[in-house]
Amino acid sequence: SLSKLLVLFTVSGGTGALVAYAEADRSNNGAFIGSSETVSEKKKVVVLGTGWAGTSFLRNLNNPRYEVMVVSPRNYFAFTPLLPSVTSGTVEARSIVEPIRNIFRKKRMDIEYSEAECLKIDAENRKIYCRSSLNNNNNGIEEFVVDYDYLIIAVGANVNTFNTPGVEEHCHFLKEVEDAQKIRRTVIDCFERASLPIVSDEERKRILHFAIVGGGPTGVEFAASLHDFVNEDLGKLYPRVKDLVKITLLEAGDHILSMFDKRITAFAEDKFKRDGIEVKTGSMVVKVSDKEISTKEMKNGGEITTIPYGMAVWSTGIGTRPFIKDFMKQINQANRRALATDEWLRVEACDNVYALGDCATINQRKVMEDIAAIFKKADKDNSGTLTVKEFQEVIDDICERYPQVELYLKSKQMRSIVDLLKEAEGDVKKESTELNIEEFKAALSNVDSQMKFLPATAQVASQQGAYLAKCFNRMEECEKNPEGPLRFRGEGRHRFKPFRYKHLGQFAPLGGEQTAAQLPGDWVSIGQSSQWLWYSVYASKQVSWRTRALVVSDWLRRFVFGRDSSQI
Ligand code: FAD
Repeated sequence: SLSKLLVLFTVSGGTGALVAYAEADRSNNGAFIGSSETVSEKKKVVVLGTGWAGTSFLRNLNNPRYEVMVVSPRNYFAFTPLLPSVTSGTVEARSIVEPIRNIFRKKRMDIEYSEAECLKIDAENRKIYCRSSLNNNNNGIEEFVVDYDYLIIAVGANVNTFNTPGVEEHCHFLKEVEDAQKIRRTVIDCFERASLPIVSDEERKRILHFAIVGGGPTGVEFAASLHDFVNEDLGKLYPRVKDLVKITLLEAGDHILSMFDKRITAFAEDKFKRDGIEVKTGSMVVKVSDKEISTKEMKNGGEITTIPYGMAVWSTGIGTRPFIKDFMKQINQANRRALATDEWLRVEACDNVYALGDCATINQRKVMEDIAAIFKKADKDNSGTLTVKEFQEVIDDICERYPQVELYLKSKQMRSIVDLLKEAEGDVKKESTELNIEEFKAALSNVDSQMKFLPATAQVASQQGAYLAKCFNRMEECEKNPEGPLRFRGEGRHRFKPFRYKHLGQFAPLGGEQTAAQLPGDWVSIGQSSQWLWYSVYASKQVSWRTRALVVSDWLRRFVFGRDSSQI
């Protein structure tokens, strides 16, 4: 039997280096027989990013016929849903991260990792340009080029400041592990500063005013966890200043947690009121200086007010990374919010490039164009109408190709048409009934809003990673026996079934051992029982037994000894 040895050739050129792979065989006696004929037949897969999407892809990929290279500036995976717990020291930063090499160490595959960030994608020549930020002899900067057969873009997103002046300079973000650690240190700094004898009462109040911008799940969870930290731990250690602490949550919309069920929103707003967390809705932040936040009050005719603060955390949503923006310009997607892909997660107009997670979105416009094409094909005499039977066929085509549409067809607006079609089943007379295509298409265009962008969540990212890995694992098999829906009637099938998101529910921890859970089927549960569900789900979702053990022991430590308030 032959064991395979991978040889890495690095061909230097100009400021960069071209990295190419070739393969050689080693016979039983260990003799090396490398030759040009043994050049690797393995397809090279380059994965950008070690977050939820990239890691899920790597964990699920198990076809040894690929040679994988992972490029990411972060050599670990971070369990982001527990970042708010890191800001209060409920969980240690180390407990929620897993070295990426640990994740693929046990896989029987060729996987290499480079700690670098991608600067540019050249899809035409199948190359990516990267820069390592590790200190080395080359003035601290090392650039190199990597070629690929398949590129998986899973680089997540940036914080979105909406270009609000002063935000970059004065606000904290809660995106990375380092951000959470910095927030924790700053909270403790504020308490120490407010305790200095030289500080006036007015200044103490300002220093201990914590402002959180954005009433989405992250902002709300952070506010709740800060409140617990102050109430259960810091208040005991800083009794002289504890009554001066104020937490304000600023939200531009009418409610916080607007993406959750109304019962959860109402419960959260009530609970925060009882806890003394001020929730200012209709309050849009327009400027941040080092000591003040200016807001536009929608409910007061757009009046501008200023709020003194000690620490501000900005959590208002996500934006596109600059190099992805450049890439989008290259491929005529400049006007989009994120990289547009089809239902198979392939970046439009780019061969062998896939995008998943927060940096990608499934292109709904393309879906509508496809649906229009299906109609056009069915309308053979160009009359603008189809018989019920033809309609039925068209709908079958659409539903097979786009499973989401099937759901939409059950919605109210479409019911009359669907009823008509149902009535027509087996009724020969009604087969001649004609339906207007334009009318139908207009109703169907609402599918756009029904199918909405998938939410930017870890759940979506990890399901996409697992889906894509399964496609890659079965690439050859499905090439021979396609299992996907029809391309168009009579035109063969797609290799794979399209990506289908399965929503498993979402949590909103509200502090004081109370959590709101919205589970599939709009089943809502709020209170302590959901908190236990939250503990068990988050423990079970850890990527390794090591992090699972660390996270659970951190929770136990907090129950027994409380949270640590030292500045390290
Ligand atoms: P990420 O996980 O952000 O990973 C991106 C990766 O790309 C990183 O490894 C990064 O280092 C790398 N990268 C960046 N730039 C480059 C580059 N130039 N070249 C190469 N690599 C690069 N979702 C939930 O479902 N439930 C929750 O409870 C939840 N809570 C959250 C709490 C917080 C505080 C935050 C910030 C997010 C939370 N989310 C939650 C959202 C979830 O974290 C994201 O949706 C998820 O991380 C997206 O995964 P991703 O792989 O697309 O991006």
